[in-house]
Parts: sequence; C-alpha cells; structure tokens
Amino acid sequence: MKPVYFDSAATTQLRPEIIEKMTQVMQQCYGNASSTHSFGRSAKAMIEQARKTVAKYLNVSASEIVFTSGGTEADNLALLSAVRDLGVKKIVTSRIEHHAVLYTVQQLEKEYGISVDYVDLDNHGHVDYKHLESLLQSSHKTLVSLMHVNNEVGNILDMDKVSKLCKANNAMFHSDTVQSVGHYKLDLQELAIDFMAVSGHKFHGPKGVGFAFVRKNSGLKPLIFGGEQERGYRAGTEAVHNIVGLEEALKLSYENLEEERAYITDLKKYFIEKLVLNFSGVSFNGSSADFDKSTYTVLNVCLPIAPEKGPILLFQLDLKGIACSKGSACQSGSAKGSHVLSQILCDEDMQKPSIRFSFSKYNTKEEIDYVIEVLKEFI
Ligand code: PMP
Repeated sequence: MKPVYFDSAATTQLRPEIIEKMTQVMQQCYGNASSTHSFGRSAKAMIEQARKTVAKYLNVSASEIVFTSGGTEADNLALLSAVRDLGVKKIVTSRIEHHAVLYTVQQLEKEYGISVDYVDLDNHGHVDYKHLESLLQSSHKTLVSLMHVNNEVGNILDMDKVSKLCKANNAMFHSDTVQSVGHYKLDLQELAIDFMAVSGHKFHGPKGVGFAFVRKNSGLKPLIFGGEQERGYRAGTEAVHNIVGLEEALKLSYENLEEERAYITDLKKYFIEKLVLNFSGVSFNGSSADFDKSTYTVLNVCLPIAPEKGPILLFQLDLKGIACSKGSACQSGSAKGSHVLSQILCDEDMQKPSIRFSFSKYNTKEEIDYVIEVLKEFI
C-alpha cells in the first residue's frame, strides 16, 4: 500500500499542472518585477494578470488584492494595521480561531491595550450570533475576526449573517478564509467583508504565498517596509512563480469545483458510514458529520479507544503509512491538546483520542478501507 495522505487541511498536494506552470515561470520569467527592462516587465505582467484572475473569482477589483507570504501574514496585516492605523480599540473573535489570528490578537491586546471579547460558542462550536450582536453594541471602534471554515473541525460560519451584523453595527469584519477559498465561492460584492486572508497551499497551490483582500479605501497600512512592491503594501521582491502557481491553483479549483466537491463529499460520507459501522461509540467533533454545517474536506473523529492508546495513535498510523493529524499542523509540536476541541468537547471526550482526517480529490475509498482496517487494530 502506498502512503495514504489524509492531511489536506495541513497542506495539499500540488496539482501536476501547477508544477509544470511554475517550472516554466522559473525557467523563462526570472526577471525582477520591479526592473524596467523587458525581463522585469514580463514578470510584472504575470503578477498583474494573477491579481486580475484572483480578483475576478472574488468579484473585487484587482487593486484590492495584496500578495503575501501566506495566510499568516495576511491575517497579521489586517489585524495589526486595523489597530495601529485605523483606530480599532476592540476586537471580537472566537477561541477556536487559528493561532495566526488568536496569537496576533493577544499580542495586540498586550502591545496596544485594546479590549478583546470572545464570542460564545454552542456545544458544536458554532458562533452564538445573538451574543455576537450584543458584543457589537459598543462605542469603541470594533473589528470582528471570525474564520469562515474552521481548520480543525470544519465548522462553517454564516458569513452573510456576520457581515450584516457588522455592517449594521458599524464594525469592520476580517475573516480568515484560508480553509474556504478554493473550496467555496465567495462574492465580495454581496458580503460586507473588509479584510480576508487566503493561502495558496490549501488548494493544491504552492506554499509561501497567499494574499490579503483589503477593501478599497480602508486605510490599511503595510506591515513590511522597503520597496514599492504591491503598491507599497508589501515590500520585497515578488516570488513570481509562487504567485502564478497560486493563480493557476485557484483557477483549477474553481473550474473543477462542483465535480471535485461531489467526489470528496462522497468520500467523506463513505468514511463516516464505515466508522459508524465498525466502531460503536464513535462520534464526530463539532459539526464534522453535518454536511450543511461543516466543510466537505474535513472530518474530525472522536474514537472510542482507550485514552492511554491516544498519545501513540498518530505515531502508529504513521508507521502504517497513514498521514493525518490531531488538529492544526502549526501546533503539532506542542504538548498542549487542541485549543479548538478543548472549547467544544466535554472532559470525558477530551480524554479520548480525536483525529482530523482531511481530504482532497487525490484520495480514494480504498484508502479509507485501509485506514478502517488499521484503526480496528486499536480497539
Ligand atoms: N489560517 C488557517 C485557518 C489555517 O489553516 C492556516 C494554515 N494552517 C493558516 C491560517 C496559516 O496559513 P499559512 O500556512 O499560509 O501561513
């Protein structure tokens, strides 16, 4: 059995078409996009074309897209500048955000003395919209930062509702859409979102590149100073191959969206059925098993396995060639448990091993059968 990769929420396999395209750019288009000669101009033209492509899919103007080194930088850019430059005095967020948001917000609280409110969550980890509304009754300039799709349990936020609540209460809205762009379509003419963070490697594109959507006339200022790249929003010589790779990845993701979504949804259904059939007492964390409330790409499973077997489970699966995770890859080096599950699960379920399986179009039902057989050895 060749290695089985069920960790696409951590990062995805590159599509071969993207590798081909990026290689071509690296070989033929190596100019510095700031150079005025033809090599520079053709690199610049590629970046501007990529910006237009990305903008078209989100229904925004190209000038509202700022290429960054990834999702983390895009989150930092929006949050930090909103406080430093836009006079934001209060941030409303949730305790199950990615650390790219949570730790940035905590740093801003320390550094700028802003107030931070965490919205209540129900016992499946969904935002309590009534509580959110009450937190927005504030005289302080407020920014709401809530992710569209949770990277650990897959819960989906009602973006329309949150954007309307923010608008009605004069709050700005930032959303970490790292796990949703490329998997879901967003029309930013319909949604009142001010800032958004996106990462290329979550939809079969390259690592080290992403972008921030920054609503026109928002007044946001840069994090990184130096050259005039990205209209002064983000200094540093652009990685043209990465930007073109991201463009191509987004294009292919959206062109094949319906077909790939149907295929992956079917896989996730099959996985759930097999787990329920083979493991009495299995449960699904958050709204993981609810196809309306959770992304089709993530399944977070609480396994009815003795707690003492938990710590070695991932290691054992890895030995059998199965790659999956406990939660976010960014915290897998940490001895602490998942900060997301700790907000959702009762103490008893927190003791049981939970695993996040996350999927892509490259997975198959045979791989799921193999995982089920291996998991049975632990019961
Ligand atoms: N936000 C979320 C929800 C993520 O899943 C990730 C990646 N683990 C990030 C932000 C960070 O993105 P990047 O790896 O591009 O910095």
